[in-house]
Amino acid sequence: MRFFATKFSTILSGLLILSTTSRGECMNSLKTNNIKEEENMPVARNEVPSKDRWNVEALYLNPESWKEDLHKAQGAGKMPKWPELSKYKGKLHDPKAVASLFDSYLELQRKLEKLHTYAHLRLDEDLGNDTFKSDFGMISTLIHEFSLETSWIEPEFLTLNDEQFRQLISDSALTPYRFHLEKIGRMRPHTLAPQQEELLALSGKSLDTAHRAFGALNNADLTFKPAIDSKGAEFALSNGTYATYLRSPDRALRKSAFENIHRGFESYANTLCELIQGQVQSHLFVARARKFNSCLEAALFPNQIDRSVYENLIASVRARLPLLHQYVSLRKKLMKLPDIHVYDLYVPLVEEAEANMDYEEARQAVVASVAPLGPKYQDSLKKGLLEERWVDIYENIRKRSGAYSSGCYDSMPYILMNYHGTLNDVLTLAHEAGHSMHSLLSRTNQPYIYSQYPIFVAEVASTFNEQLLLKHLKSKAKSVRDQAFLVNYQIEGIRGTIFRQTLFAEFELQLHKWAEEGVTLTPALLKKHYVQLNKEYYGPDLTVDPELEIEWARIPHFYYNFYVYQYATGLSAALALFQKAMNDEGAKEKYIEFLSSGGSKYPIDLLKGAGVDMRKSDSVNAAMDYFESLIGELKKYL
Ligand SMILES: [Zn+2]
Repeated sequence: MRFFATKFSTILSGLLILSTTSRGECMNSLKTNNIKEEENMPVARNEVPSKDRWNVEALYLNPESWKEDLHKAQGAGKMPKWPELSKYKGKLHDPKAVASLFDSYLELQRKLEKLHTYAHLRLDEDLGNDTFKSDFGMISTLIHEFSLETSWIEPEFLTLNDEQFRQLISDSALTPYRFHLEKIGRMRPHTLAPQQEELLALSGKSLDTAHRAFGALNNADLTFKPAIDSKGAEFALSNGTYATYLRSPDRALRKSAFENIHRGFESYANTLCELIQGQVQSHLFVARARKFNSCLEAALFPNQIDRSVYENLIASVRARLPLLHQYVSLRKKLMKLPDIHVYDLYVPLVEEAEANMDYEEARQAVVASVAPLGPKYQDSLKKGLLEERWVDIYENIRKRSGAYSSGCYDSMPYILMNYHGTLNDVLTLAHEAGHSMHSLLSRTNQPYIYSQYPIFVAEVASTFNEQLLLKHLKSKAKSVRDQAFLVNYQIEGIRGTIFRQTLFAEFELQLHKWAEEGVTLTPALLKKHYVQLNKEYYGPDLTVDPELEIEWARIPHFYYNFYVYQYATGLSAALALFQKAMNDEGAKEKYIEFLSSGGSKYPIDLLKGAGVDMRKSDSVNAAMDYFESLIGELKKYL
């Protein structure tokens, strides 16, 4: 669940600290790294010692006991599989029936989640394992059947009239479920007559076509010409490798990767524009059918996020764009470039510290870094990372790449890592540990129904812990270069997560406004507006290449529904809470309370309880102030 646009690999530029000659050495390290990887081939899963594996046995002793549980959860062989749920059909005006239905429903859902957690962890250990593939397939099918068989529940609540619904939620038998019912009830003013609802439900799959078509094009059909480095060597180019090449110190490689990836998308410009149009039109269809004033309101309504949160974010970031201009100009100067292009923005300005940390050191650093959150928090993280074995630490053959935190109400908050010892890996561990502690505290302090925190707040705990680790590492950093690297990392985090995602949010909003006004989206219109936004955000120093015009076409998030702004608000909230917690014991307690609240309130209320009001501009402004101070700090080091 990492979203930072910046990922500092070991292949780093010496642009600032190192002389030009060592830049050549860095390029060599790109190649030697490849060879090294071949030499240190990851081991097969069965060769991984148990101390380096996550403790899945705590969930199920073995696949056989998992299967036993699966059979128990499967219900009747035929439909309905779970007659204990369907027997309440037509009775949801009766509080006692509702309470019993929720009890059975939640008990079953909880079991299915436990089964699913085990199956996906085992599969991720070895994506080629046929038994795990088949087990995962079985539980996925069962969950699909469960959701089909229970799909009548929410619509039936929505058919109740005002008086019936009011009586229902005020009944004492339903006190534990009141907030849950309230959330369902919020949709009632936007619910149509049953026949119309049926039509809407029937349209669901077809409305999703643009999203799926983009996925097919982006993940399977699109190919790109290779990227070519300064020595003429070719490198296979894909969406995955693109990000790596953009961080290469070899400018020719970066430029070539930038040009060729965008030219690949450019050759489908009309198709991609129609796909975005299709996606936006499907949002407009739903918004109008459900009587919302705009696509934005329709998207934010279910989570009770006010449109002011979205609009304030854009306004606050816009007001501070000169800071980003200043950073681009500083970067140009530090990189000693005659002109700076988009493909020059991702190269780390400072080489990463040579001293890589082994996992034990990383674990100790992460545990030490959370000391400000108190001994209780620190002890349970320490126990989790060591005795309880939450983490699957190293790469092995066919293990899932990347990193995540995952689990369920009845499991420990597992962490998947592919630890190689870079600072980025250490920060990833801190990030995932942040998620895991949030999950643990929510699960321990909330009943099952309110244990899952909403997406809007999901990245707060993880980025908060990254800040803790950065603070800790900065205090320990031995050299100026290490200090500068950490500061640059923080700057890049804010640039990629707050500035860039707000630019996206603004673009996304404009696309929907055009659709609402009946304006047809064309490649020319999108290109012009996208370039305009980039010029405004990055400022006069950025040289805009023609390839940038089409960048919107390759951003998968434009095929979601008003999603990206949450990256920016999430990091802003985390930074604001971090500042507060570092300066005030009371704020710290409130933050722990927030972590323990799961999904028991609407996201804005959860954050407000912790001390930040996202409807106001304060936290985004504070993040901008912080960005400014980091630029000042970077200048000081260099
Ligand atoms: Zn995350």
